[in-house]
Amino acid sequence: MTRLYSAVFAVCCSTDSCACPMLRNCVQFNGKYGCDWCKQEGTVIKRGDGISRVYQPSLSHEPLELRDQTGFVQAALQASSENPISGVKGVSPLLFVPMFDIATGFVPDYLHCVLLGVVRMFANLIGTAKSTQWQTTTHPSVRSS
Ligand SMILES: [Zn+2]
Repeated sequence: MTRLYSAVFAVCCSTDSCACPMLRNCVQFNGKYGCDWCKQEGTVIKRGDGISRVYQPSLSHEPLELRDQTGFVQAALQASSENPISGVKGVSPLLFVPMFDIATGFVPDYLHCVLLGVVRMFANLIGTAKSTQWQTTTHPSVRSS
C-alpha cells in the first residue's frame, strides 16, 4: 500500500487595497512608504482636484529597493504603530503562516488598481477629450439595434 502525503500552503493572498495594510500591519497605500512592493517614500503630486501619493522611481531621489521577507521581519520586530519602519508598523500574524512570503505574497487589488485605476483614467480621458485630441468611432462590426 502506497501512502500519500499532502501539504497545503498559502503562497499568495488577494485582498482589497484597504484590507491589505491591515493584514500586513503596514502603512496604507496613500501614506509614506505605503507601497506594498518597494521601500520608496513616495511623492505627493497634484492630481485632478486633489492630491495623490505616487511611487514612481523617476520622481524619487532614493534608489529603488524592493521589499523582501527578511527585511520585512526585521522592520516588523523593531517598529511600532507610532514609529513605523519603511511603512511596517509591527508584527503581523501572517508572518507565522508557513511558506507565506508577506513581502511578495500579495497581488494587486484588481478592482481598485486596475478597474478603478487605469481603466477609469482611460475612460475619463476618452470621455472628456476634445475631438482634436482623441477620435472615437463605432467599430463596423457593432450594429445599432
Ligand atoms: Zn513601490
